[in-house]
Amino acid sequence: MMKVYEKISEWGRGAFSLALDLIFPRDCLFCEGSRKEGGDFLCGLCQQEIVFVEPPYCQCCGLPADISYDFPTANFECALCRKNSFFFDQARSLGPYDTALKMLIHHFKFGKQPGVMKDIVPFMADYFGRQEESWDGFYVVPVPLFIRRLKERTFDQSFLIAREVARILHLPLANGLLRRVRDTESQAQKTKAERAKNIKGAFAVDRPDRVWEMNILLVDDVMTTGATVNEAAKILKRSGAGQIHVFTLARALPFGNVIVNPSAQTDPVISDRL
Ligand SMILES: [Zn+2]
Ligand SMILES: [Zn+2]
Repeated sequence: MMKVYEKISEWGRGAFSLALDLIFPRDCLFCEGSRKEGGDFLCGLCQQEIVFVEPPYCQCCGLPADISYDFPTANFECALCRKNSFFFDQARSLGPYDTALKMLIHHFKFGKQPGVMKDIVPFMADYFGRQEESWDGFYVVPVPLFIRRLKERTFDQSFLIAREVARILHLPLANGLLRRVRDTESQAQKTKAERAKNIKGAFAVDRPDRVWEMNILLVDDVMTTGATVNEAAKILKRSGAGQIHVFTLARALPFGNVIVNPSAQTDPVISDRL
């Protein structure tokens, strides 16, 4: 009889540890090594791999300069922003996407593990702690998910990020001002023009009186061409919003752009700045 109990409890322990592994993987998500001295999802070394977007970047949309920009000045404007392509006034991102940060965001979003925020929040606190900018008077607004996606995913990643931004910056969180009225296909694998078309008409503001002259810090997880945040900013501006600043956790480079660290340049540069 004892043996049966032992077997059951062994099985139970196995199932429990399997469940724990799913929530907190035993190995680092990025290098698959031991998570020693790291967080719940990344090892210490991979955590160090997450870096902030450093200047020079476009003063408007935050796009990091590449080497084709011959020694850009600290406050340069990219070609797109010189053409006034965006409705938002400014966009900034915490770090480049193509790092361990991508792994965390994937695990968070597609692995349905909102607990990953625990590993991300210290980076956000550090990032905002270094900013000299003041967002006094701003309201934090997450880019909303369509209701069907929310049901599938069971949580809204932009809302969770926005909630932390609001907490760190001591700003009010204004959820529900912006509504996703149309489902959209995934923006991945789409060109810049396709992305803009895909997202067109996806958002609505039901109560323009509530956003009138409101300064907004719009929050999303990843920015690539900026089509999504730009569409959201367009609707907010048309509804009478004041300043619109954008914050995303990560910045993925539009297709064809390669960031090259000027001090480490050895390869020819591929540049097709959009
Ligand atoms: Zn690692
Ligand atoms: Zn720009």
